[in-house]
Amino acid sequence: MESSSAVTHDLTLESVKEEIYSRNNPTLTPIDIEAHASTVHRILELKKKHDVVILGHNYMEPLVFGISEQNEQGDSLALSMTAVQTDSQYIIFNGVRFMAETAKILNPEKTVLIADKTAGCSLADDFSAQDVRNLKEKYPGVPVMIYINSYAEAKAECDVCCTSANAEQIALEMPGDELIFVPDLFFAQNLEMVLKGKKKILYPGNDNGTKGAVCQVHEKFSLEDILSVRRTFGIDRDSENRMLYVHWECKPEVLQEADFYGSTTQISNDISRRVRNGGLEKAFIASECELTSNLMEEFPTVEFATACSIRCSHMAQISLDKIRPILEAIDSGSDLSKWEVTLPEKIVQRASKPIQRMLSFSS
Ligand code: SF4
Repeated sequence: MESSSAVTHDLTLESVKEEIYSRNNPTLTPIDIEAHASTVHRILELKKKHDVVILGHNYMEPLVFGISEQNEQGDSLALSMTAVQTDSQYIIFNGVRFMAETAKILNPEKTVLIADKTAGCSLADDFSAQDVRNLKEKYPGVPVMIYINSYAEAKAECDVCCTSANAEQIALEMPGDELIFVPDLFFAQNLEMVLKGKKKILYPGNDNGTKGAVCQVHEKFSLEDILSVRRTFGIDRDSENRMLYVHWECKPEVLQEADFYGSTTQISNDISRRVRNGGLEKAFIASECELTSNLMEEFPTVEFATACSIRCSHMAQISLDKIRPILEAIDSGSDLSKWEVTLPEKIVQRASKPIQRMLSFSS
């Protein structure tokens, strides 16, 4: 796959523009490109000068996503792994705060920066360390697996972390017949369904007096929406070359209607495999809309049905105009505290254990 990054060419404004135009992303208009090319150019120039790693989550808008090199792009798991491997002193995380916290936990000696510290997540924001403690009291001795979409204080209370790419595998690796999964209620029900007969999944809200959370983006997809997408875009069930993809964080009835369900990377890999085999004409992805925008660029031969009103308001807080001042501050040696992610040492130590355990299962 070609890199979608502009950094592979000589860094002049003209070469940066040329690179962006050559990406042929159908969601980028010449007006967008002309308006933002000089900012992209300056960011790339300073990124190179100071050897800054810029990690880009798949839900970033295409111009922001493109300032990360191909090996700096991905979903939560891929970015966690990249964060471990980097030698750079500075890591800018283009994603939301819990992701930047994970990078900091894995790289306590590095300077981890985020363009907007208020970029939250409905799953992480609505779930606390106290919620985990309540569940542990309710189900003593049962191991707790926490979705990576959570804050460090909550992770610090848990036995193992997971992402949507490895939850099923890690659940099976954990000892015992029962496992507490937090905080995503839809994900928990999907896991419960997939692991039926193999492992009992306990989760918040099941008459146990505790509460969990849902993703404000993926909860928007209803079964009616999905059936309507099938009708409108002609994506029939069991059609080999037309696929309806659904993310794990969607409601159980939506997941059950999918032709394929999985994590962002698993969905992307399935598309890639089908494209290589010449077998994918049309696709719809029930997930954050900028994921589709980025996949449209990566797989131009596939016709993607889009519903680009389903945007994560937290991810949307990260913009080129907020990223550039971080790099200018690094360049001038100015104070970085406005962007720097810091955590108490004790929390870093405790939260790193479930994350390291997850990575040991994933390597
Ligand atoms: S898409 Fe959902 S899970 Fe991801 S950051 Fe936004 S609210 Fe959180």
